[in-house]
Amino acid sequence: METREFLLNSLSMHAQVHILGQQQSLFTQFLSEIRDVEIQQDSLRFRRNLERIGEIFAYEISKVLEHRERDVQTPLGVVRTPVLRSQPVLATILRAGLPLHRGLLNYFDQAENTFISAYRKHHGNADSFEVEIEYLSSPSIEDKTVILCDPMLATGSSMVLAYQALLDRGVPGHVHVVVIIASTEGLDFAIKNLPENVTYWVGAVDPELTPRKYIVPGLGDAGDLAYGAKD
Ligand code: URA
Repeated sequence: METREFLLNSLSMHAQVHILGQQQSLFTQFLSEIRDVEIQQDSLRFRRNLERIGEIFAYEISKVLEHRERDVQTPLGVVRTPVLRSQPVLATILRAGLPLHRGLLNYFDQAENTFISAYRKHHGNADSFEVEIEYLSSPSIEDKTVILCDPMLATGSSMVLAYQALLDRGVPGHVHVVVIIASTEGLDFAIKNLPENVTYWVGAVDPELTPRKYIVPGLGDAGDLAYGAKD
């Protein structure tokens, strides 16, 4: 995995951005499958791949979380082993975030969970929309480590609004943002509008957005591929 300092186009700010897809691994295999216009038609496989990607993100993030030493009694002796000091809160943007969330929860298996609904409210002109947050179900996040995930970071506005909605439940100790595919524009927007100490975990950064704000090359509509088309 490569870590690199992400230099913003317009500001000389820096953010911690880990781009997992820069190194070949099973992660890039799963990423290629969710992008593939044929393979992604198998929605069971699509959801499972999002979940597997979530599991890999969880494993990578766990390496930077605080651990403590624990003496473990085995049948034959005692061994000292590092274990997580505390579990993060896993926060997810509905609905496309659900399989990715499940993957994170498979590994952070004692985590508390937050669900946030964000949807694109389109105006008369189909290309223009506002993101609306309507629902938040969350424990207190005061002083806790929060992992906030959404598979696609297009404009970045859902992520920023979701983060702001979360603050209603306290001030987090640290936030890790997890995204499978980000647009350059969306990542720039998030970095400019979220606090400097947020850490980003990204699968790949794609260069373009369509007028309807879909990522190019991206993968299409992650929510529809996982759960079927909306009316
Ligand atoms: N949401 C998606 O599912 N796909 C995109 O390309 C952008 C946002």
